[in-house]
Amino acid sequence: MNIIEESFKRLYPDREFNYDTQINYSGKFQPFNANVRFRSNKITLNLSKQWKTVDSEIKIGLIQEMLIKLFKSKKHTKNMDMYNTFIKKLHTFVPKTQSDPVLEASFNRVNNKYFSNIIEQPNLKFGQESFTKVGSYSYASDLITISSALKHDYELIDYVMYHELLHKKHQFKNKNGRNYHHTTLFRKKEKEYENSELMEERLKRLKKQKSKIFKFFN
Ligand SMILES: [Zn+2]
Repeated sequence: MNIIEESFKRLYPDREFNYDTQINYSGKFQPFNANVRFRSNKITLNLSKQWKTVDSEIKIGLIQEMLIKLFKSKKHTKNMDMYNTFIKKLHTFVPKTQSDPVLEASFNRVNNKYFSNIIEQPNLKFGQESFTKVGSYSYASDLITISSALKHDYELIDYVMYHELLHKKHQFKNKNGRNYHHTTLFRKKEKEYENSELMEERLKRLKKQKSKIFKFFN
């Protein structure tokens, strides 16, 4: 029995497993990322190469997380708990290979002002020029991505940086197999940012600006 079938059997003990399977390890992914494809009855898992040496009980948790998304079912297992605990600790040993002078300066300002410099610098990069998704934090890669749409607005970069660093610091709550990222505590902390309401207004304006440009070209 391969690891995909094993993960499936533990998740759905009453169901028959009649799929083809394939696992690819790739060096192209961000560290510890993964995705799943399902085509003509074949389940293909693409995992970043770092997963190769991870304990198989944790890997089963990862695969089960992907399987419940694939089969759109709600399940919660011990392996999934192990996987989530693993992901939460990952940031301490993920290699720090990506940075950018503008984002590093922003990180240092925000870390100093709001976190007493206790947060370890994550990977930092500018992503696509998105006006709706202005930032994200990947636990698995310990990577903060800031939209290139903010490239020239250092104040907004700092505000979004603060939001993403709150994710790194407070992580997520897991309840009944669902992950909660923007908890009440998170929202409370978010409002502690100086002029947070003004910053929210400016982000809203930025989104509207984009839709105007979009209309102009239509
Ligand atoms: Zn968020």
